[in-house]
Amino acid sequence: LDWKPNVVLLVGGVGGAKLAYGLEKILSPEQLTVIVNTGDDFWHYGLRICPDLDTITYTLSGLVDTVNGWGLAGDTTITLDALRRLGETPWFRLGDQDLATHILRTQWWHEGCSLTEITGRLTSALGIGCAVLPMTDVPVATMIATREHGELPFQVYFVKNRWQPVIQSIRLDGIERARVTPEIVRAVRAADVILIGPSNPWLSINPILSVPGMRELLTARQIPRVAVTPIINGKAVKGPTAKIMQELSLPLTAETVVDYYGEVINGFVFDERDQNLRASLPYSASMDTLMDSDEKRLALARNLLEWIRDWKRL
Ligand code: GDP
Repeated sequence: LDWKPNVVLLVGGVGGAKLAYGLEKILSPEQLTVIVNTGDDFWHYGLRICPDLDTITYTLSGLVDTVNGWGLAGDTTITLDALRRLGETPWFRLGDQDLATHILRTQWWHEGCSLTEITGRLTSALGIGCAVLPMTDVPVATMIATREHGELPFQVYFVKNRWQPVIQSIRLDGIERARVTPEIVRAVRAADVILIGPSNPWLSINPILSVPGMRELLTARQIPRVAVTPIINGKAVKGPTAKIMQELSLPLTAETVVDYYGEVINGFVFDERDQNLRASLPYSASMDTLMDSDEKRLALARNLLEWIRDWKRL
């Protein structure tokens, strides 16, 4: 790439991690900052678990289980078997090696470290050069009001109930106390490009945008602010994005995502399979956004930045 932009990328877990991986390969470490959803975080067996931060960290370090897109490759679950022997019915998968991350994070948490600092220590230990930042250091919990079971904590909805209950509404518990961190302010002020990864807009990106001050911080920057579609051909590549759109009675196309992001973005990338779609935005394009191989992750990252470099000149 003959352009060296500072890039800030907003993501959730698996979908966003694929683009983070591609960008990390074509940018130098100081050029990339990844801001990650922490609304999925929770306490489990006394441990602080941050699923999206871990997915990003494992993906960028090359340790991720590429079949699932999360967890560590080759990890075992002997600890879960031992919990079963003690009468537990574990419903959240914690790998034996993965537990090391949660144990250290929890220890540092109790010692008073911020989640930003904890994540910095974990990512540097795994050799990641770019900044991976939680959306806030204040605990925020995504709560899902369901038709069948009333309000459920996010992981009870997502993992225990395999995202099958019908969503009525989504609440971000604790969001009013959340603060944008100084690290995020610095990264966004130094950015040449802001990207929103192909993540779940309602479950992964909205919590980030809902941190008080975040929208203003982003929209104050008169730079390309571009989202990549998580919807291809009226379907989600994976997970409940399309199901949620249906349950919220929203039209099942990528244009709905454009509208949802509103003034946060000034550019949008549709998938090339959706040539007929249009965004009422200054800039839109269609590309092959299906990142089902490492080559395609790099290719999308490169195509995206080359396209943006050219519209900078317009
Ligand atoms: P989660 O937290 O693990 O659910 O992951 P994210 O919120 O980051 O991403 C889930 C969304 O990413 C879903 O809407 C998927 O359709 C979308 N997604 C996953 N992989 C891809 C991909 O390769 N290309 C595109 N365009 N979208 C993807």
